[in-house]
Amino acid sequence: MVVGERKALSEIKEMVRPYGKILIAGCDTCTAESLSGGRKQVAELAAALEMAFRLEGKDVEILEISVDRQCIHDFLLDIIDRSGEVEAVLSMACGAGVQSLAERLPAKPIYPALNTMFIGETVSNGLWQERCQGCGDCLLGVTGGLCPVTRCAKGLLNGPCGGSQGGLCEVSAVLKCDVPCIWHLIYDRLEQLGELERLNTYAPPKDWRRGGGIGPRQLVRQV
Ligand code: SF4
Ligand code: SF4
Repeated sequence: MVVGERKALSEIKEMVRPYGKILIAGCDTCTAESLSGGRKQVAELAAALEMAFRLEGKDVEILEISVDRQCIHDFLLDIIDRSGEVEAVLSMACGAGVQSLAERLPAKPIYPALNTMFIGETVSNGLWQERCQGCGDCLLGVTGGLCPVTRCAKGLLNGPCGGSQGGLCEVSAVLKCDVPCIWHLIYDRLEQLGELERLNTYAPPKDWRRGGGIGPRQLVRQV
């Protein structure tokens, strides 16, 4: 899923300050899962914004809506309908959802309420970690299902480097928390699978064109 983090209220407030009536639009899939942009967070942001403006003596009417996904056109129809009632829309989707909305509402100001962070996993309650950079040439089949592109601080395809100590990456000291060396984890997992010989195969440099190295990517499939 795409993990997002809500922007500071002060930043959001300045974006929508020119408007007297706005629609806050949530996304009930990815950003809801990362507790940043689902219907509950829409209600919280609406209340916080209303209060912040009221303390300044400014009346703002805030409408709320939430849809299953903002990155799929058909799911946007309810937001498009409601947008006629407001001067601007504040989207709580990821960057793809915000752009999807902006392209379908060319005459309406659309603002992002979130910072889109990464493709990740909910590891535990309140903890999300990056797991994939969408490199376009997945290596998980040869690395035991663990991604060195995303999870090695140096993106090494033939690790580990000399900074791996006791199972931890050298960035642990800088970040002041234990960051596992992903190549150590890859070794452990391949050992458990009885596939350690995979590490004898040299991984050549990746073709980063498939990872967005030559501009925006698209996927076309006959359906
Ligand atoms: S190898 Fe590429 S596609 Fe596979 S998980 Fe890592 S970044 Fe994502
Ligand atoms: S210690 Fe491990 S995870 Fe960290 S940079 Fe080196 S190989 Fe990558």
